[in-house]
Amino acid sequence: MNAELYFRESMHMALIVHKYGGTSMGSVERIQNVARRVAKWQKAGHQIVVVPSAMSGETNRLLGLANQLHPNPDPRELDQIASTGEQVSSGLLALALQAAGTPAVSYAGWQVVIRTDSAHTKARIESIEKDKVLSDLASGKVVVITGFQGVDERGDITTLGRGGSDTSAVAIAAALGAEECLIYTDVDGVYTTDPRVCDEARRLERITFEEMLEMASLGSKVLQIRSVEFAGKYRVKTRVLSSLTDPMIPLQQEMTSGTLITFEEDEKMEAAIISGIAFARDEAKVTVLGVPDKPGIAYQILGPIAEANIDVDMIIQNQSVDGKTDFTFTVPRSEYQKAIEILKTQVQAHMGAKEIAGDPKVSKVSVVGVGMRSHVGIASKMFRTLSEEGINIQMISTSEIKISVLIDEKYMELAVRALHKAFELEQK
Ligand code: ADP
Ligand code: ASP
Ligand code: MG
Repeated sequence: MNAELYFRESMHMALIVHKYGGTSMGSVERIQNVARRVAKWQKAGHQIVVVPSAMSGETNRLLGLANQLHPNPDPRELDQIASTGEQVSSGLLALALQAAGTPAVSYAGWQVVIRTDSAHTKARIESIEKDKVLSDLASGKVVVITGFQGVDERGDITTLGRGGSDTSAVAIAAALGAEECLIYTDVDGVYTTDPRVCDEARRLERITFEEMLEMASLGSKVLQIRSVEFAGKYRVKTRVLSSLTDPMIPLQQEMTSGTLITFEEDEKMEAAIISGIAFARDEAKVTVLGVPDKPGIAYQILGPIAEANIDVDMIIQNQSVDGKTDFTFTVPRSEYQKAIEILKTQVQAHMGAKEIAGDPKVSKVSVVGVGMRSHVGIASKMFRTLSEEGINIQMISTSEIKISVLIDEKYMELAVRALHKAFELEQK
């Protein structure tokens, strides 16, 4: 049997997970289109689990209400509130499927059960029970499961962090041993950079798992990083594709569209040195100035920050002058005030530091590519390009397959476009 035929045969009666994002679920008409698309897959003989996000704007609206009522809301209550968006869209999708003659049932995370730890607003999935889902599928139903949420061992509802429905979908696909996880979204795949920032961005037919992991961790929100981690750990075949095409396009065409995340560096693949540019807009920088330079500085400064559950990203410690040094690191902008407060109350006096300073208006821009391993000069090309645009680099960090710089947020988009051009990413 040739490979192509084998693939088609094995796709017969496959269990497939579909995930639809907020825009894809954004109106009654769009939900009906999702139902049509799902019904098409089911009629082709597949068992389908669908993981929808909240309707677009809904999670922001819900969190906005919470913030109007409390300056520092309890994360448990935030999860109680934010998780409702997905419950609504799941129920609506089940109804749309039923109205179209497709048997369907929806479940919230706690009904499945999707067990998580208790880290409210950024919980991690620990296990997923599959019996109920598998028996519904066997009885011919489409099973709709809320994205973004789970339940901890106390029975409290948790959420998985912004963009977390991607992670729900890939984790469910892993738990059920699904053939494939299809992430339907409002762009038709993973691009060399966010197509909303750079017109010249080009869709990638494939991207290696490693590159996708870097892109996601460096800020490309097309996939939540944890979903990519799950895909890697459990080897879930994951594809990003458009939900905005005609829902009735032929299955064969849909199955090969978008961007596939691959696990091997295929030799036939375009041997690009750089595959993409990622950015994180909402970063912040904090500096502890004039600390006595002695062992334990990093620990004394970052310990209390870690205890407060604040993620630290880039770090530099300056050369010391007269026994004093400056220590700078970045945090998500949403944690800036909290970080400054901790440094002022718990660190400054204790360490004899002169001053705590910061800048909440910085962004991080990164170039990513596995090809960097075997090429030199990528960093200097990046730095030259930025200098030609008059953009000052505040911090730098590198790994084998990426280089990141921290810059003033007002130059972020300019930097992305200039780098996209310099590395000729618009060309195949
Ligand atoms: P969904 O609601 O479907 O989860 P998201 O808004 O979370 O959709 O993610 C899709 C968006 O990600 C796109 O609309 C696009 O603006 C953005 N994006 C950022 N980087 C990329 C990239 N490299 N390729 C494609 N989309 C990207
Ligand atoms: N609705 C959630 C959010 O807006 C989860 C998701 O869309 O993936 O972050
Ligand atoms: Mg998303």
